[in-house]
Amino acid sequence: MQWINLAYLVAAVFFIIGLKGLSSPRTAPRGNLIGAVGMLIAIVATLVNKEVLSFGWIIAGMVVGGAIGVYIARSVKMTAMPEMVALLNGFGGGASLLVALSQFIITPASSQTTFWLVALTLSALIGSVTVTGSLVAWAKLQGYAEKALRIPNQNLLRVVLGFGAVALSALFIWQGWGWILVLLVAVALVLGVLLVVAIGGADMPVVIALLNSYSGLAAAATGFVLLNNGLIISGALVGASGVILSQIMCKAMNRSLGSVLFGGAMVSDEQMAHVPGKEFYEGKVKSCGAEEVAMLLEDARKVVIAPGYGLAVAQAQHVTQELSALLEQRGVEVDFAIHPVAGRMPGHMNVLLAEAEVPYDKLIEMDDINPEFSQTDVTIVLGANDVTNPAARDDPNSPIYGMPILDVDKSRTVIVIKRSLSPGFAGIPNQLFINDNSLMLFGDAKSVLQELVRAVMEL
Ligand code: NDP
Repeated sequence: MQWINLAYLVAAVFFIIGLKGLSSPRTAPRGNLIGAVGMLIAIVATLVNKEVLSFGWIIAGMVVGGAIGVYIARSVKMTAMPEMVALLNGFGGGASLLVALSQFIITPASSQTTFWLVALTLSALIGSVTVTGSLVAWAKLQGYAEKALRIPNQNLLRVVLGFGAVALSALFIWQGWGWILVLLVAVALVLGVLLVVAIGGADMPVVIALLNSYSGLAAAATGFVLLNNGLIISGALVGASGVILSQIMCKAMNRSLGSVLFGGAMVSDEQMAHVPGKEFYEGKVKSCGAEEVAMLLEDARKVVIAPGYGLAVAQAQHVTQELSALLEQRGVEVDFAIHPVAGRMPGHMNVLLAEAEVPYDKLIEMDDINPEFSQTDVTIVLGANDVTNPAARDDPNSPIYGMPILDVDKSRTVIVIKRSLSPGFAGIPNQLFINDNSLMLFGDAKSVLQELVRAVMEL
């Protein structure tokens, strides 16, 4: 038993070193590997435990689950990563819920201490909220559900269900009745739906990080149910890192965690009514061709590329790097402006651009690049939309007001590459597209950039 706990301790050290590695794109792959080795140590330590009665089911589960995991990891598109993370959070919560229920069934009432019942209640409660919350988040990101569904009296409903869950938890811990546990799980499952269904737009990444944290907390509680130190440590690490990530993201969007969780209802009807319709762009948009942009680039000394979700959809990262290298050969200074929530997951743009071997020192974070825009000759907004919308900075009535943006509109000329005037994830029009210094270059990012590279070469 001591050897097992020692192995869990070694695994925990690996997890912590792995997490540290994830803090920079340069060290992230190694961090990932160290974390995975830690998990392998924890799994092997658990399997050598004498309490394991039969390996048949465990091995079958590992083979089937592992095969599905390998398939998903190999086939998932980079643009669908957030959906996958949402789903995996849900699986984590679901596993905790199932373990809690099965432990309750197999543990005789005489062995159910108050402490054990508290841990089991937390595992079932948090696990249930995580399952349905994550499934709703997955459906939203997948486009199956409304982005921000507004249910009448949703805040009141959440508060009532929240108090209901607390009351049921207390009753269950006091009496240990199975039917109260079933009721608690049912209430918590509905609560999970209500917590996420009203959240949309720029708040989604925070919700995913928060659900990740919930899945960790549920696992830690399950660790107390099973008296498994490895699970307690790894669950606590996931729980804590998820909360820290949520806080960092809230700070990046100038939001509080409370306003994210209750944000859907806090967007007033007045704000929604303020969102303009299609007439917003009528007669005000200037478009241009690749040759025109190539000429602008020829005269530029400093160019910034601001990538967004469209870069990921078009898989245009390699041709973007080609254009950047070509411009640098011609003596132009080129940098990439990285917004913390550009794309559909934190670090999305870093991963894509790293794949195309764009040097790390060219990826400049929002706070560092924003003062540079006023000295930039040309900024190319590449499949980005919400993260460049000046309304977030200037219009207090905008639903995304307060979210920090890339100040691309302060550059001398802004070229916006996208296929149409369709809105981004937040579903609102972008003032940038009708500014005097903006030019739209319509088309799929990859094809347009290929044309642009040709046009620059022909200069
Ligand atoms: P947006 O979602 O605001 O806009 C992306 C733009 O890309 C669209 O307007 C679309 O316009 C364009 N586009 C799509 N396909 C192509 C293509 N093939 N070629 C060229 N353009 C294309 O993206 P941003 O990155 O600016 O902002 C991210 C948004 O996602 C924010 O609202 C953020 O809060 C949210 N979000 C972020 C998460 C994260 O962790 N990063 C997670 C969940 C949500 P068109 O159709 O006209 O081409």
